[in-house]
Amino acid sequence: MTAQTKFFLDESRMPKHWYNIVADLPAPPPPVLHPGTKQPVGPDDLAPLFPMELIMQEVSAEREVPIPEPVRDVFRLWRPSPLVRAHRLEKVLGTPAKIYYKYEGVSPAGSHKPNTAIAQAWYNQQAGIKKISTETGAGQWGSSLAFAGALFGIEVKVFQVRISYDQKPYRRALMETYGATCVASPSNETNSGRAILAKDPNHPGSLGIAISEAVEVAATNDDTKYALGSVLNHVLLHQTIIGQEAIQQLEMAGDDPDIVIGCTGGGSNFAGIAFPFLGLQLRGGRKRRIIAVEPAGCPSLTRGKYAYDFGDTAHLTPLTKMHTLGSTFTPPGFHAGGLRYHGMAPLVSHLKELGLIEAVAFHQTQCFQAGVQFARAEGIVPAPEANHAVLGAITEAMRCKAEGRSEVILFNLSGHGHFDMSSYSAYMAGKLIDMPYDESELAMALSGLPSVTA
Ligand SMILES: *Cc1c(COP(=O)(O)O)cnc(C)c1O
Repeated sequence: MTAQTKFFLDESRMPKHWYNIVADLPAPPPPVLHPGTKQPVGPDDLAPLFPMELIMQEVSAEREVPIPEPVRDVFRLWRPSPLVRAHRLEKVLGTPAKIYYKYEGVSPAGSHKPNTAIAQAWYNQQAGIKKISTETGAGQWGSSLAFAGALFGIEVKVFQVRISYDQKPYRRALMETYGATCVASPSNETNSGRAILAKDPNHPGSLGIAISEAVEVAATNDDTKYALGSVLNHVLLHQTIIGQEAIQQLEMAGDDPDIVIGCTGGGSNFAGIAFPFLGLQLRGGRKRRIIAVEPAGCPSLTRGKYAYDFGDTAHLTPLTKMHTLGSTFTPPGFHAGGLRYHGMAPLVSHLKELGLIEAVAFHQTQCFQAGVQFARAEGIVPAPEANHAVLGAITEAMRCKAEGRSEVILFNLSGHGHFDMSSYSAYMAGKLIDMPYDESELAMALSGLPSVTA
């Protein structure tokens, strides 16, 4: 008899609620502040940017938020996603640990991001919104929202970070195939974009700048709202379907993870897999190690300051307390574009401060090495972002081997790398280097943090 590899959930067991970790936290997260008054923002302050249903989710403390049936109906195109036991990887590593991965690359856009894109597009449609503006780094979020917009009849405009616009023509083609419009950022279409271009016409762009442009378009056009693919509470909430499915699938497998791992850019896929497990613990269950893995070139959780900061470069967004490298920090151009963000989700940052999660940072060449090893054992080529989680899992599996322990490791394989093969080519040609961030730039960006008196 061969051991079972894949665990599929019946559609009828797809979660009917999202899990809101705020309900179970020992201390509430610090309030979001208005950038001008430095007072806590109310729902009305956010109304120009988001439909009210999403704002209410952003500030909700209800443990269970119902998933609307039309959203669940779209999810059935690829959900529940599979949980896989990585037998072959375990064998290659020679580890007594058991390794499981939850595979989110089965979505139409190839990552976990449609889990929130579909929900956000649906709430916007319900509010009568016809246009959404957004940003994208590596192109994963832009393609997910473009896909969601196509299903719900919403025009999507994507500000794509210049360097990825130039390097990833297929991501752009995917967004355009779904019907979205793509603009390279910084662009001439907004005040924020023009201000950057005036100083540096060849600026490679950053997520912080692209967010400024997308927010500006939404704030200055009555018919347009804004959507963010990570960081915010409601986005993390939408991703919790991942961990809730994984809990049921591990029960099917007869295992209980000792360690739960996810990569962190803005924190959404990590929250998606980790929060439901943390919830079990916060409600009296056993303690597990929960590990966030971030890029050494943009190490907000391990090197950033826990402070109030802006979410964007032009300082149009509210202030949130988070681990930040400074809103003007431009990370080096490493290949996991989806992880090049200066801040971390406030909820993930709060959990780190409470000592409920751990964080580690890895360089990109070790991550690609792990991704190649994973592909050669399990067949799936991970997205460069997901390679961080793969390396996190392999590192723990090798520690188990050294210690002779058969722990159970679960990680989130957040997406496939089919649109990122040029970065794999660069890796195999020996052209990838580990770019350290610029220490003096980090110091400068941190010295520019807004002052907020407690
Ligand atoms: C965007 C992206 C990430 C990083 O974003 P989070 O919000 O931290 O999840 C990770 N993996 C993939 C495949 C992505 O597309």
